[in-house]
Amino acid sequence: MNISNVTIIGAGPSGLYLARELSKVMNVKIFEEDRVLGMPPHCTGLVNLDSLKVLGITPPIINTYRYVRITDLEGNDITFDFRRRAIAMVDRPGLEHYLIDEAGSVTLNLGERVMDLGNGVLTTRSRQETYELAIIAEGSSAVLAKKFIPWQPNYVYGVQTDTKTYTTSNLMPRGDDEIVVIFDRRLSSHYFAWIVPKDYYEFRVGIADDLNTWVKFTELLKIIEAERYKPFGGRIVIGGAPERVTAMGNVAVIGDAAGFVKPMTGGGIIMGMLSAKLLSESIYGAIKEGLSINDALQMYDMAYRKFIKNRVKALSAASYVLHMLINNSLSNALKLMSKVDVEVYDYDDHVNAIMRAFVKRPSVFARVMYSIMSELSFIEPRRISELIKNVFR
Ligand SMILES: Cc1cc2nc3c(=O)[nH]c(=O)nc-3n(C[C@H](O)[C@H](O)[C@H](O)COP(=O)(O)OP(=O)(O)OC[C@H]3O[C@@H](n4cnc5c(N)ncnc54)[C@H](O)[C@@H]3O)c2cc1C
Repeated sequence: MNISNVTIIGAGPSGLYLARELSKVMNVKIFEEDRVLGMPPHCTGLVNLDSLKVLGITPPIINTYRYVRITDLEGNDITFDFRRRAIAMVDRPGLEHYLIDEAGSVTLNLGERVMDLGNGVLTTRSRQETYELAIIAEGSSAVLAKKFIPWQPNYVYGVQTDTKTYTTSNLMPRGDDEIVVIFDRRLSSHYFAWIVPKDYYEFRVGIADDLNTWVKFTELLKIIEAERYKPFGGRIVIGGAPERVTAMGNVAVIGDAAGFVKPMTGGGIIMGMLSAKLLSESIYGAIKEGLSINDALQMYDMAYRKFIKNRVKALSAASYVLHMLINNSLSNALKLMSKVDVEVYDYDDHVNAIMRAFVKRPSVFARVMYSIMSELSFIEPRRISELIKNVFR
């Protein structure tokens, strides 16, 4: 290997997981624009526990869950049962601190935003310096990433708060092991809302949508009689997928900035760390075989194109169709499937969960599909052309 220094831009889960891995074999320097690691937090923190095992990490966990109940405002619902507490809410700032503590010697420059990058030179507000290998892990903004790999992520905006409520509405989780997801177009027109128990009467409540998210967030809190404490949130990448994830032989992009997400939910913590694992393993492989950094990046890019890109693209299209449905077919689907309990195995595999729901009630599958197809045929041409663009981009 012809290099011994790596510069990472962004200290979120993707950048820090990579730092943890590469600090075993290289000098690692990180630039993070925020002044305090992990703050402000902007995420619900839900992950599949088994995926943490695959990544070999044990970050602090706030609570764990066995059930995910999907409901509309009328109470038509379907419950996915993971048969054990398989989903965890990780403590997001805690995850960042855990990863940096696990890393070897790393130079962490907090409060320093990278303004520009290219031709081996990195610029912040206060300095310019050279880099041998630069990894962009800047999250959903993807400002620097787009300079190297032109792509257009699909976004929604998420807002949430940690709050208390004593309401007994059937929208509330029935136990501390149940996550409630509200799919109702009167609330979120193109995404969904969530209520996740943290402790007795304490919940993380949020909503994501493409327009007027703040107004809808206030409405949601009113419905469940909850107070608004300090809200947090941000842009959620829900799809798109760049053609490649490396450039110029010494730049690679990981995490949200390269579209490593689950488009159905916008979850990107695990996918981001997996992208870091994929990249670090390509670099270990190159070191072992005496290959160059360019070869390592080619391996990472090939793995991305072979295993990730098309899956993310297909799920982006499926997610796009699901989230643009108007209320009729959504609540029809929920009514038809109402009160069905479905056993599932993997929180990260949404396609499997949906298929299991349909296998449980095969007779309603056709009716749900019919309802969806007839609604799609009434969708404005603009939306259809957006969908086609999304699928073939
Ligand atoms: C409301 C909401 C709820 C969510 N809930 C979940 C969930 O339950 N489960 C899940 O898996 N995912 C969830 N996500 C998505 C999840 O937050 C992201 O997928 C994940 O954080 C991506 O990690 P990352 O390291 O790639 O990027 P980030 O976590 O965004 O980290 C990027 C870091 O780079 C820094 N940075 C950016 N630009 C620069 C620059 N130019 N110079 C220096 N530093 C820079 C940023 O300050 C940031 O710290 C949620 C997102 C939102 C907004």
